[in-house]
Amino acid sequence: MADRIADIWGSRTPHPAGSAWPVRVDRFLEQGVPEGEVEWTRSACVLCSNGCGMDIGVHAGRIVGVRGRAGDHVNRGRLGPKGLFGWQANNSADRLTEPLIRRGGELRPASWDAAMELVAERSKQVLDDRGPLGMGFYNSGQLFLEDYYTLALVVRGGLGTPHLDGNTRLCTATADFALKETFGTDGAPGSLEDFDLCDTIFAIGHNIPETHTVLWMRILDRLEGPNRPRLVIVDPRRTEAARHADVHLPIRNGTNLALLNGIQHELISNNWIDREFVAAHTIDFAKLARTVSAYPPERVAEICDVPADAIREAARVIGTGERLVSTCLQGVYQSHQATASACQVNNISLLRGMIGKPGCTVFQMNGQPTAQNTRETGADGDLTAMRNWQNPEHVEELARSWNVDSIRIPTWAPPTHVMQMFRYAEEGSISFLWIIGTNPAVSLPELHRIRSILEQERLFVVVSDPFLTETARLADVVLPTAVWGEKTGTYTNHDRTVHLSEQAVEPPGNARSDMDILLDYARRMGLTDKDGAPLVNWSSPERCFDAFKAVTRGRPCDYSGMSYEKLRAAEGIPWPCTEDHPDGVKRLYADHRFNTETSFCEDYGHDLLTGAAFEQKDRAEMQPGGRAIFKAADFVPPHESPDDDHPLLLTTGRTAYHWHTRTKTGRARQLQAAAPEVWVELSAEDAERLQIAEGDLVRVASPRGAVEGRARIAGGRKGLVFVPFHYGYWDEQDGARPNGNAHAANELTITEWDPVSKQPLFKIAAVHVEKIGDADGASAPAPTTTASEPLADGVPATAGGEGVSETMERDG
Ligand code: SF4
Repeated sequence: MADRIADIWGSRTPHPAGSAWPVRVDRFLEQGVPEGEVEWTRSACVLCSNGCGMDIGVHAGRIVGVRGRAGDHVNRGRLGPKGLFGWQANNSADRLTEPLIRRGGELRPASWDAAMELVAERSKQVLDDRGPLGMGFYNSGQLFLEDYYTLALVVRGGLGTPHLDGNTRLCTATADFALKETFGTDGAPGSLEDFDLCDTIFAIGHNIPETHTVLWMRILDRLEGPNRPRLVIVDPRRTEAARHADVHLPIRNGTNLALLNGIQHELISNNWIDREFVAAHTIDFAKLARTVSAYPPERVAEICDVPADAIREAARVIGTGERLVSTCLQGVYQSHQATASACQVNNISLLRGMIGKPGCTVFQMNGQPTAQNTRETGADGDLTAMRNWQNPEHVEELARSWNVDSIRIPTWAPPTHVMQMFRYAEEGSISFLWIIGTNPAVSLPELHRIRSILEQERLFVVVSDPFLTETARLADVVLPTAVWGEKTGTYTNHDRTVHLSEQAVEPPGNARSDMDILLDYARRMGLTDKDGAPLVNWSSPERCFDAFKAVTRGRPCDYSGMSYEKLRAAEGIPWPCTEDHPDGVKRLYADHRFNTETSFCEDYGHDLLTGAAFEQKDRAEMQPGGRAIFKAADFVPPHESPDDDHPLLLTTGRTAYHWHTRTKTGRARQLQAAAPEVWVELSAEDAERLQIAEGDLVRVASPRGAVEGRARIAGGRKGLVFVPFHYGYWDEQDGARPNGNAHAANELTITEWDPVSKQPLFKIAAVHVEKIGDADGASAPAPTTTASEPLADGVPATAGGEGVSETMERDG
């Protein structure tokens, strides 16, 4: 039995390029459960966007464990610590089981009828007083496709407000926009199997070993096998991936674009580019070449604070392989110039002609488990099934499918991103805000402001959640929801693989699925189509899936060839899945025709520096004709830079053991014990200068707030401060806000966003750090197994995940 808290990635099954990734089935069962009596139900993990195939073990009506699915190409049986232990949150004693209504300042239990009647009554009142612009909806990256699609129809087709966004805005909005800018529509071009085939991996701003632990197992098995791929890692921290890298560039945060321009400068000047591919399948190469010509390694070295020769070496590795897989995540997406930088990662694959071929792709990686579905269904700022807001024919087509007048779909205003939605609530124009499965009182920037918005008397706040989160505690109505394992539905991971997750157990008490709550709401609101029939005409997840299939026909994310029955028989199916491709499609763009045609594309593109949106005529003039688009931009420094008062640069991020605001993982004993409290990570140089030692109590202050925690001295770059963003206040006395010392990282972050994707900046804030107390023998409550590995000796090693079995099948 392995301890998979101590050994995050488990045993190795090395293999050479081109051979199938061997099977290793990971399993964890609650102690004392009679193994022979456990019944297994098909599902997939929803604790990150890898979406590992897993079965849920049930005994006596309770979830008692999980095991990976051997045949699933996503994980070949493996599970990471969150997948192995995170399910225990389902059984947590503090699950919400009854709706709550605020009365006399207190949240008190109420019936579903009373709660939903109040929600409907307030909605009608706001619609009468202010119209649809008074209503806002902010949802999640952790629901199922069926929940999202019902939400999108209710809000866009029924209420007609543009104020609908997902917390995917904080996570994958830039991935979505970068894919649209370059390739015309959303959707990962490649397959996770490309990692088994490639000879070069380039990861920028993506701490794969911690954010996608099973993907890192896959990469480790290549790194430790024959024909090891070369690895270029860009990360200001010394991550586990950096420890294995051929080239590690610990750049100053906020300088991604300069580095990526510098790498392209080298690729072009050394002629490490596929000129034939570029000429035949791309446009705007000349503009790109002109822009990046101003970024020779010496200039980039100065901006990024890494040696020029290391930049040259990174470019040489990227430029001389034959099968390149690139990936980026929050280090790119949560910075200023996010979309501009993410587009350069696409450009590198295009310059090398390495897209649409085995072992060659780019992953604009997702973070949240079902983020892809938020985007596909239109439960964020996108129009359902990757349609284009600015294309009247696309809007008309959707209106026909929903049987509503196209004017009902709010294309008269741009879709509202969450930062703008909170601004409208702050100003008072939004007076009804429904928050579904997300926790903005911990996850949005500048938390004192977010709390003050949610606490306003004039704002009616509804929260749907399985737990009494920091946000739920500030609500007027709280609706208890069923989660994974307690409802049936589908979701799509970051290589477009769709899984079906079956209901394994009943939800606790009177908790209901989000889809059922929305069906009830639509009925109470009397939402109808233009013939007076109920707008939402399904009552089960399967019928909802069928409706979504119909609306995707002919679009890039075509689900028309899928069914629940088919998903039950397969180990995940990648879209598009059609009559012509009944088993789905592993790689998009194999014919090197991209989705950029004016009539088909999902977005006409943007000016990357200002965010100005292009119009149909601008796109038509470009005549992309199915060719990919090189987007170029000059580097500009972030708005907030270190100064005398705030001389260090903060970045926030995740650890391998927690998910988002810890509402689930904080309730799994092993995960919580591995990373129980916030810590403040500093470089050795800064710690020495500030006379701070491992475990000392420190205070981090930005112009917006302060956080206190114990110091971990680790291997990150000089000038960098890292604070994990998982920690809030739900497990403390007040539960909603700091009670004395604050420790939510977003007390420090800035209200600012990328001009194109509108993704907030969590990776750049100027801060000041000071010691406020001695360690007195304590060390920081940070894992020793990850990027936060301590430099000091004698720190107790992170452990405590005993009882996991690993079954190897080397021949796969
Ligand atoms: S890698 Fe992600 S999807 Fe897979 S087990 Fe871990 S948390 Fe779950």
